[in-house]
Amino acid sequence: MRIVTRDDQREFEFLTDRIIGCLVGGAIGDALGAPIEFDSWETIEAKYGPSGVTGFNEAYGRVGAVTDDTQMTLFTLEGLMRASVRGRTKGICHPPTVVRHAYLRWLWTQGNGGPLERAFGGGGDLPDGCLVKMPGLLHRRAPGLTCVGELERGGNGSVAEPPNDSKGCGGVMRAAPVGFVNMPAEDRFELGCEIASTTHGHPCGYLSAGYLATAVGELIDGAGLTDALDVARRVLVGWEHHEETLAAVDRGSELGEQGIPTPADLAELGGGWTGEEALSIAVACAISAPTFERGVLVAVNHSGDSDSTGSITGNLLGALHDQGGIDTDWRDTVEFLDQPIPGPSLTENLNCEVVEVDLEDGDALGAELVLEALLRLCNLESVLGIERIDEERHLVPETLHPKESVATDDTE
Ligand SMILES: [Mg+2]
Repeated sequence: MRIVTRDDQREFEFLTDRIIGCLVGGAIGDALGAPIEFDSWETIEAKYGPSGVTGFNEAYGRVGAVTDDTQMTLFTLEGLMRASVRGRTKGICHPPTVVRHAYLRWLWTQGNGGPLERAFGGGGDLPDGCLVKMPGLLHRRAPGLTCVGELERGGNGSVAEPPNDSKGCGGVMRAAPVGFVNMPAEDRFELGCEIASTTHGHPCGYLSAGYLATAVGELIDGAGLTDALDVARRVLVGWEHHEETLAAVDRGSELGEQGIPTPADLAELGGGWTGEEALSIAVACAISAPTFERGVLVAVNHSGDSDSTGSITGNLLGALHDQGGIDTDWRDTVEFLDQPIPGPSLTENLNCEVVEVDLEDGDALGAELVLEALLRLCNLESVLGIERIDEERHLVPETLHPKESVATDDTE
């Protein structure tokens, strides 16, 4: 576990750069893969040429559109931050439940607010939290049927009580932010599994999420890619029913170590529609990648779930290279980074006082700044590993958190 204080500015910026790199990297991979999610390699090659996709193309009516992978990843992050605040203020918290409630807010953005209302009461008010106010997130982008279906039933699954036998990649593609939580590797793995198993009950569906969360966590803490993947693998083999996921990860590692895989090579690992296949492809692409850009392009150019494999690969490589290693033109093309949101909702969401970024009523912030602000502003010592909070960074929960909101921290 890391211990960082705000006095250690260099270390703090290093952590923040890797975390933002992970999020932005995932969004870039998602957006690169979005136009070709359902295309075979033959179709991709016929449409874009022998190199396949080499940059952003139009999907969902714009260039650089992100999909459910990025949407749900951000809701994972929001849920984890709220869990952190709740744990600090209430002294008790069950993070998977708080994240589940974040996913119910995501479901609301997909046009179904029923489960959120059933969980909290209320009559159709706008849910709280800043993400529901981000225009770029209020779209249906081919959401996973298992995610939608299980959340419509409440999303009450767990590892102990699996909700179904789904091994879809909807659990792993949203798991990266679990790696931001300042915990030992084993705990990150378990939390990743628990959060994924709210909707995905097959071991491949949730163990893949635990693996990604652990690997991202190691990268955030400063490990190299090989070491990060080794730690995730070591924790994986301690879990029951790990064999299928382990075999997939090992196949991906072996392929990646042989050089940059071709679309035909990746087809040997599967289409990436399931958790262990998507993870396997991401591991192969990340290990073999000479640069961030090359790695995510390889990850989307194959027959299968291109946006999810691109997203997971982008999470890993973005955390490894940090945001400074990502082409700024690419970053600025991604959809949610150019969407303004109302500044005050930040404080509402985080339930805390803003001290490091000046926000005034009516200000609109670019979403990239919001992401950075999310990470810098809040009471996230357990997320960012900040051991000490400045005297003035006290909580002001009641005044900034309207009681009439549909979902409040009290109910989480
Ligand atoms: Mg998607």
